[in-house]
Amino acid sequence: MSKGNEITRRGFMTRVGQGLVAANVTGMLLKDASAQLVVPEPPGKKLGWAIVGLGSLSIHQILPAFAQCEKSKVVALVSGHPDKAAKLALRYGVNQKNIYNYQNYDSLKDNPEVDIIYIVLPNGMHCEYTVRGLQAGKHVLSEKPMANTPAECQQMIDAGRKANRKLMVAYRCRYEPYNQEAIRVARSNELGKTKVILADAGFNMSDPNQWRLKKDLAGGGSLMDIGIYALQAARYLTGEEPAEVNAMMYSTPGDPRFKEVEEAINFQLRFPSGILANCTSSYGYAWQSHYRVVKSEGWLEMDPATAYSGLRMRVHQGNMIEEKDLPVVDHFAAEMEHMSGCVMENKEPLTPGEEGLRDLTIMKALYEAAKTGRTVKL
Ligand code: NAD
Repeated sequence: MSKGNEITRRGFMTRVGQGLVAANVTGMLLKDASAQLVVPEPPGKKLGWAIVGLGSLSIHQILPAFAQCEKSKVVALVSGHPDKAAKLALRYGVNQKNIYNYQNYDSLKDNPEVDIIYIVLPNGMHCEYTVRGLQAGKHVLSEKPMANTPAECQQMIDAGRKANRKLMVAYRCRYEPYNQEAIRVARSNELGKTKVILADAGFNMSDPNQWRLKKDLAGGGSLMDIGIYALQAARYLTGEEPAEVNAMMYSTPGDPRFKEVEEAINFQLRFPSGILANCTSSYGYAWQSHYRVVKSEGWLEMDPATAYSGLRMRVHQGNMIEEKDLPVVDHFAAEMEHMSGCVMENKEPLTPGEEGLRDLTIMKALYEAAKTGRTVKL
């Protein structure tokens, strides 16, 4: 079989693996599809979620994702806009009595329907609402970046320990098959040893009034919001923590968007095993979301790597490039199901508060490296 045919065969077998094609590959014997029909069991116990902050991410991604969850249901909404919350409550079957605002948020402690709180507010508000949520006796999932500073992250971790409640950071890419497969290959001896990671993350910020451009609400510029994906990728692909970092920052002079925070930051990481990472992060270029793991005998590339859907992986070995065909999942459903499962089974989440703290600590070092023009050791 030629190498070209090999690619086709793998793609076909993957689809069979997903149950989309009812065929016996060796005998090419097609079976009666109805014989394969599996009637799903009724859902078991679902944990109740409260969504805090009804902005773009909550409306377009998180609330719709509950339809794909077996262990998680939305039961409460927290918002400063009662009309918006009432409308969304009607759409998602949330009892109107379970609509809260930022003032009566703490009274969630008296609502036994709520098990887990999902913080989807501007970054500068994550710490306060996470700590208050934990003090209300609820488990908390916080959006990324975990907070504005490492000190805030530590405060959130301490509050979780004190309340004996779980704290997870919403690094959705860790819960979906493409990035999981990239991690497996990058950390294995397949394609040889990993030598370099190249990762780019950015988009052209169109709204000059965005909270993302305000230092107190965002914590920083493109690095905090989107460059964190490149940093995360370098860390999860190596499974190591960087030993030292370099960085260079730039904001277009006179651009009113970048009065308080940086437009772009390019950075390098050196990991203890000798793997080097080159990353870029920007609010000034067209949307970028890709990484390449360069190994001694081949490379693996994801482009897009971190989009909500349509992820693509190419693997190069010898003179062949193979495009991988993996199961597609809703990233937000997957991460919420993981959190619900951890609460049900009393397990530590894959991306606990400590993982968010590690990113904030490195980002702080990157800003220091950029400001001083010096390599910063960690
Ligand atoms: P958004 O601006 O669309 O929504 C923010 C919400 O917070 C709005 O409903 C707004 O009314 C509310 N809010 C309350 N107090 C506010 C204040 N003082 N200033 C501004 N807004 C205030 O933002 P978003 O895109 O939904 O982002 C929310 C969080 O989710 C951020 O932490 C962001 O980094 C994160 N996020 C994560 C992903 C991901 O893929 N995991 C994607 C987008 C955003």
